[in-house]
Amino acid sequence: QNISKSYYMGEEELEVLSKVNLTVNSGEFLSLLGPSGSGKSTMMNIIGCLDMPTSGKYLLSGNDIEDLDETELAFIRNKEIGFVFQSFQLLPRLSALQNVELPLIYAGVSSAERKERSLNMLDRVGLVDKTKNLPTQLSGGQQQRVAIARALVTEPTILLADEPTGALDQKTGAQVMELFEELNHDGRTIIMITHDIGIARHAKRVVNILDGHLSEQEVQ
Ligand code: ATP
Ligand code: MG
Repeated sequence: QNISKSYYMGEEELEVLSKVNLTVNSGEFLSLLGPSGSGKSTMMNIIGCLDMPTSGKYLLSGNDIEDLDETELAFIRNKEIGFVFQSFQLLPRLSALQNVELPLIYAGVSSAERKERSLNMLDRVGLVDKTKNLPTQLSGGQQQRVAIARALVTEPTILLADEPTGALDQKTGAQVMELFEELNHDGRTIIMITHDIGIARHAKRVVNILDGHLSEQEVQ
C-alpha cells in the first residue's frame, strides 16, 4: 500500500517506486513487466523482504513486515519464499546438487532427505545428469535451471523469479514456463519479473511497471 522506494547516492535521491499499490492473492500467477531500470528488481527485493520500502505499508499474509523481527523475516525468506535471482547467484565451489541442497541445510532437513528432494527437483528441471557439475561446468540455461530447482526445493508458498528465462533459449524458456504453470496449478503463488512481453503472457495477470508507477494490463 502506497509503497515508495528511493535510493540515495550522496546528495542525490532517485525515486524508483512512487506510491505503488498492488495486491497479490494467494495462488495467483502474476508477471511484472517493464523495461530495464524501471524498478522490477527493486520491487522484488521489497516483496521478498530483502529490502524495506522508504515509505508505505507492506502486508505479507496479513502481517505488517515492519512489525516482524529479524528471526521472523529470516523464516519468511527461508521457508515462505523461493527466490530465483536475475544473476543466478549459485555458489561457485558447490556442485549443482549441493547448490540445490543449500536451503534445506538452513531448514535443518536431514542429509538423506535433502539429497532425495534435491535430486527430485533437479529431475523436474531436466538436469538429473548434471548433478555433480560445478556452475562453471554448466551452460547459462542450465545454471538458471539449478537456481530454479534451488528456489523450489523448500516448497515455498511464494516463488519470486527475476527474469527466470533471461539466459535461456526459446525451447528451454518454454520448458521453464511449463514448469511454472504446473507449480501454479498446484497452488503456488508466482511472481515473475520480466521485460519480455511474450514471457509475461504465460502469467494469468500482467502488471506493467513504468516510471515508478504500476498499471494492470488486460490479458485474455
Ligand atoms: P533490469 O531489467 O535492467 O534488471 P530493473 O527494472 O530490475 O532493471 P532495478 O534494478 O530495480 O531495475 O533499478 C531501478 C533503478 O534504481 C535503476 O535506475 C538503478 O540504477 C537504480 N538502483 C537500483 N539499485 C540501486 C542501489 N542499490 N543504489 C542506487 N541505485 C539503485
Ligand atoms: Mg532487474
